[in-house]
Amino acid sequence: MVRIDLEVPVPAVYRGVVIGKGGETLKRLQDEFRVSITVPKDDSRPVRVKGPVSKCQACADEIQKMIQKHGRAPKKAKAKKPTQNSHTAYPPECPLCKSTMNSMREALLHLQSSKHQTAVLDACSEVSCWLSEGKTLDVQEVQGLLKVPVYRDLHEAHGFKPEDLLASAVVELQRLSRVQEIHEDSLRLSADPAWLKVEGRMVVEWNDTPLTGAVALECAPDLVDMMERCRLQAPPVARVPTVLPAPLPRGNHKQKSKDVLRGAHKYPGEPGSGRLGIAIMRKFGVPECDIVCGTSFIKALAGDSGRVKDTYYLQKFKNTICVLHIPKRYHNQDDAGHAVERLLCGEAAFCQFAATTLRVDGTSFFVTSEVDAVDESGELLEIKSSKHGKPISKEGVLQTLVNGSKAFLCCSLDEGQTKLLDAWVAPAKQVQQDYRQSLIYYGQRARLMLAKVLQHFSENQSTASVWKLTFDDCKLPVFDSSETVHVLPLGLDS
Ligand SMILES: [Zn+2]
Repeated sequence: MVRIDLEVPVPAVYRGVVIGKGGETLKRLQDEFRVSITVPKDDSRPVRVKGPVSKCQACADEIQKMIQKHGRAPKKAKAKKPTQNSHTAYPPECPLCKSTMNSMREALLHLQSSKHQTAVLDACSEVSCWLSEGKTLDVQEVQGLLKVPVYRDLHEAHGFKPEDLLASAVVELQRLSRVQEIHEDSLRLSADPAWLKVEGRMVVEWNDTPLTGAVALECAPDLVDMMERCRLQAPPVARVPTVLPAPLPRGNHKQKSKDVLRGAHKYPGEPGSGRLGIAIMRKFGVPECDIVCGTSFIKALAGDSGRVKDTYYLQKFKNTICVLHIPKRYHNQDDAGHAVERLLCGEAAFCQFAATTLRVDGTSFFVTSEVDAVDESGELLEIKSSKHGKPISKEGVLQTLVNGSKAFLCCSLDEGQTKLLDAWVAPAKQVQQDYRQSLIYYGQRARLMLAKVLQHFSENQSTASVWKLTFDDCKLPVFDSSETVHVLPLGLDS
């Protein structure tokens, strides 16, 4: 009988599945197949099965089946539902082209779409002298059309209110001209690809236990407690499974309760961007700077459409502005992206943040940003996944500029987001070069908006201690004084 020593590829996150509760599964496998199995503590070393050839092979097959069974369930596609009590100026769904609309701006955009023109032409040939198929219109053209009787009547008959739409078109045109003005102001600033100058960086682990007694981010935590939760520690090493496609792991129970806290933006699950920066500065003796914030704040200044929807609270301590970021949306941690991270890095106990000292124009920043993983040589990696094979976005590239990731680990997923199909490395330097124009424009916008924020603080020295900052529909900063939120950690006196 030929005996062999077989290497079985088992990603770190699935090793618990092979071992089972108290080693039960491991014992069962060894008894059933009459083999000996070694699961090394070090995740970088493979699982080994020793015994007769056929038994080893059968056991390895069983292990692969178990891994498959513990993978994620396919993601159900969510139908986009129109809002219940939608506006009366437009139907929730266009009876002509079936597009859904949730706001006046969306209703206007829909009228501009070529899809709608085509449906209108199908419904009413009389409009053909005003419309051409497959053309996207601008707001003025829609304004003109809404004044044409046949077009107007057709829309009225389908639940649109042309008068209201015309009024909103006027408002939209004003907004567009403000947007254009800001755009031109941005372009007047120098086109500097190196607008963000990194001066130093450390990587810190945030201990988010115990989970009991979690509090909303709006309440300031204790500085000493925050400092105790920080220690210098790099994120885990990302290892692409040797066998692809690999099933993505399901969320486990213990991890889930943690993720819910993190997703709901509660302390200590979420340390609170600028507050974390202050704790790190205090603990590790980082010199004072002008602004302490998270990457989101830089992204919002740069005009990132997701981040400008969030709320920021700013409070000054001596000469430093501390920024607390409160995301608008509940962040679902049980998404495919997190499953990919767990497949590549194993079950993470804590999360790690890059804390970067950088300079934009004359302003010094200390910016914290969550980092995913490192490669075998200890360089920071940004893990991005997508089911369409294009995981890198310009927002992601801006992120690497701030957090110092040396490369993207790009992951391609199947349609149902249950499997990792392929993974490849794209060096950040090269991607930043590809996105050079976007990054330059981000810089121009960020510098323009930063000047507005600093101007606000120089004009309002003592009127309110905490400012609530949001961005309007032109992505311009709007300040309101806030009395309910305390940004600075408690005990930050000297
Ligand atoms: Zn339509």
